[in-house]
Amino acid sequence: MSDLVAALDPERVQVGDVARRLYSRDASVLRGGRAGVICFPVTTAEVSACVVAAVAHGRDFVVRGAGTGLAGGAVPCDEPVMIVLTRMDRILEVDESRRLAWVEPGVVNLDLSRHLGGTGLHFAPDPSSQQSCTIGGNVANNSGGPHCLLYGVTSAHVLAVEVVLPDGEVVVLGNEEGDSVGYDLRGAFVGGEGTLGIATRICVRLTEDPPEVATLLLDFMSVGAAAETVSAIIAAGMIPAALEMMDQRVVEAVEPFVNAGYPTDAAAVLIVELDGQPAGVADEIMRIGELASTHGARSVRVAADEGERERIWKGRKSAFGAIAVIKPDYYLNDTVIPRTKLAEVVERIYEIVEEQDLIVMNVFHAGDGNLHPLLLFDAREEGVMERVLAAGEEIVRVSVAAGGVLSGEHGIGLEKKRFMSLQFSPADLEVQSRLRAAFDPDGRANPAKVLPSGASCGHVTSLGRLPEGTWV
Ligand SMILES: Cc1cc2nc3c(=O)[nH]c(=O)nc-3n(C[C@H](O)[C@H](O)[C@H](O)COP(=O)(O)OP(=O)(O)OC[C@H]3O[C@@H](n4cnc5c(N)ncnc54)[C@H](O)[C@@H]3O)c2cc1C
Repeated sequence: MSDLVAALDPERVQVGDVARRLYSRDASVLRGGRAGVICFPVTTAEVSACVVAAVAHGRDFVVRGAGTGLAGGAVPCDEPVMIVLTRMDRILEVDESRRLAWVEPGVVNLDLSRHLGGTGLHFAPDPSSQQSCTIGGNVANNSGGPHCLLYGVTSAHVLAVEVVLPDGEVVVLGNEEGDSVGYDLRGAFVGGEGTLGIATRICVRLTEDPPEVATLLLDFMSVGAAAETVSAIIAAGMIPAALEMMDQRVVEAVEPFVNAGYPTDAAAVLIVELDGQPAGVADEIMRIGELASTHGARSVRVAADEGERERIWKGRKSAFGAIAVIKPDYYLNDTVIPRTKLAEVVERIYEIVEEQDLIVMNVFHAGDGNLHPLLLFDAREEGVMERVLAAGEEIVRVSVAAGGVLSGEHGIGLEKKRFMSLQFSPADLEVQSRLRAAFDPDGRANPAKVLPSGASCGHVTSLGRLPEGTWV
């Protein structure tokens, strides 16, 4: 503590009970332990000093952005030093001609695109949490978003990262040109979930605003027909900028808030966004309209103006908030499956959830097969967590068995580390742990996360002692 106070302004080192509780959670329903001491550095040198102090005193450290993570990545275990980067929130440099920007890790995702307004450029990764999540968190989780179908997830938009390694040394991985000379350590770092070091400055690629954008709303009387339309669009050689699906429960929950004109009697709606040159967009609108009708779409609506586009997207982006009218708590799963299996796996998810007597809402990035079943529950209900856990586990197993993967964008964190062996062999896991040890030989950076062999969390909760990584 005294080393931290010496390195930082004392006001930016907190050990009070309220702060320790506040920083013990992220946006998931996971609980670990409590934060030991919480630091708010404002420079790379201060981040390095926090790391050096933590390691010198034999403490682990956990870095945190906005805490919107859904896999427990920023949840503390065993009273670590929490390094919170929300005060490192400056946009340091924008080079319009080279289409890049250097930002601090605490910059909120949407703030960068807002800052770029009028330049004809934007930052393409657009997680639905973009109004609050940080670019450092996006880098750590290799985050996605609706428009990542066409533009690629965060890794495709990170040219270089300044990193404080777990021994306090500062290095830059990658370069402004985006060329990889030798091993691509930038690529290894992105998606590291805070286990390989701390990103303190990030050089991001900026994307040109498209000359024309069209947003379509398609509605279907069955989830299967909507899913088949998704596959048919991609099979026809079109990659929309975004291709999202919402089922009837989601539509019914959001429509009263956004008045987007979603058909509440439809089993599923697809939001399809097309962008590019006007002639190409017009052609794709026509082809997608025809394909959708062939696959049973009841209607195909093209947003007439910017206001209508915004209302359609607002419904999609506020889906998680709207569920509060149904149940007070939710557990949001995140798996990926082959697009061709969307219909069958989504049907199976409805069955799994019904077997556990829970409610599910499906709202997801259909174009890349990234499922997000939202399990709704009331945590005060006796025994409900066991049912949520059982349903979540079965969804993961069904997705992997269908040829999919454990996570599309939320990361492994605490949540999925016990499932890593479903996807990776012991040899694969050994190689991953050797990569981790190359960055962090002493295992001090977020040690309880990602790999099954990491240190364990304390799990004593009001529900009794639960297995490691349990949701409560
Ligand atoms: C309503 C809602 C919608 C969401 N929608 C999406 C979505 O569409 N797509 C998507 O991908 N995610 C989504 N998320 C998940 C989450 O917002 C993202 O994972 C986001 O990138 C996390 O950013 P954060 O700043 O909140 O990170 P935190 O939650 O604070 O941290 C996440 C992980 O990153 C590590 N970390 C944070 N900062 C750094 C850093 N500077 N250096 C190294 N490691 C760091 C932490 O240790 C932790 O492991 C959603 C979450 C919510 C609540």
